[in-house]
Amino acid sequence: MATNIIDGKKVAGILRQQVREDVQEWVGRGNRHPKLQAILIGNDPASRTYVGAKTKACKEVGIESETATYPDTISVRELKDEIINFNRDDDIDGILLQLPLPGHLHPSQLIETIDHRKDVDGFHPMNVGRLAVGQPTFRSCTPAGILELFRYYSVMTKGKHAVVVGASNIVGSPMAIMLSRENDNGKATTTLCHKYTRNLTQHTIQADILVVAVGSPKLITGQMIKEGVVIIDVGINRVSDADSEKGYKLVGDCDFDSVCEKASLITPVPGGVGPMTVAMLMKNTLLAAKNSIYPKD
Ligand code: NAD
Repeated sequence: MATNIIDGKKVAGILRQQVREDVQEWVGRGNRHPKLQAILIGNDPASRTYVGAKTKACKEVGIESETATYPDTISVRELKDEIINFNRDDDIDGILLQLPLPGHLHPSQLIETIDHRKDVDGFHPMNVGRLAVGQPTFRSCTPAGILELFRYYSVMTKGKHAVVVGASNIVGSPMAIMLSRENDNGKATTTLCHKYTRNLTQHTIQADILVVAVGSPKLITGQMIKEGVVIIDVGINRVSDADSEKGYKLVGDCDFDSVCEKASLITPVPGGVGPMTVAMLMKNTLLAAKNSIYPKD
């Protein structure tokens, strides 16, 4: 089977252009530019790169952004106080807490401190709950970006068997919720697998649509999938590579060459899901600025 490669960079570029035009229109009507407040803790190089990519995208679409950086020794109380200040600041529309956090900081405690109306990552329990019951909400950016890819590439989910591997709060679980809801983006029979799943292949082999978000290179091989499957590889893993100047390269969770022999459509790593995550963050920040999800009464 000839595999088509999903061009996440291209689709994300189209989305960012739409957001740029919407921001221009919004500002043209006399409103201030939307603003994203990023919170970066510690010196993790990957986190710095991700925040850098997000602030660059903000600039491109006309969203103001600021990054507050803190040492990894910051206490829970200090960080909560900082978040509360951002919640109270009327010039800030969206708050982004870059994950992962140092061990002593528990993401759920801090995410809950973020005002759900500024939770542009879509991680707050209020927003996840609203997603689960089909109410307007900030949707987690990575799975929401994957649905945009399905729309662009005309991947129909209705009645299909979607298998999601990885059940994190930020990718796998919200992805499974979105695919399984009986609304226009979903209507798929959905299986959610995780590290306790016995005989993973028994599930992946049945997938018409396979979303893999684990963080384990070559977890999914050609023997584990059926002919014609659509594969979304969310994983981003650094593996050593003597040919690269940096000494490493980025790979996904699928053994790309072997799954390409059967998949009809696949996202590459890099250049697949990653750019879509950033584009959806821009979209959510604009929605927050417009009070579209939580209208002010
Ligand atoms: P996580 O570490 O929070 O969770 C991993 C999940 O995988 C867990 O549910 C765990 O049970 C499951 N798992 C672990 N080993 C497994 C196995 N052998 N079989 C089946 N399931 C297994 O992960 P996360 O934060 O969702 O990130 C997953 C990957 O996606 C990482 O590589 C991360 O870098 C990447 N990621 C990419 C983007 C993007 O925009 N492209 C966004 C977020 C995360």
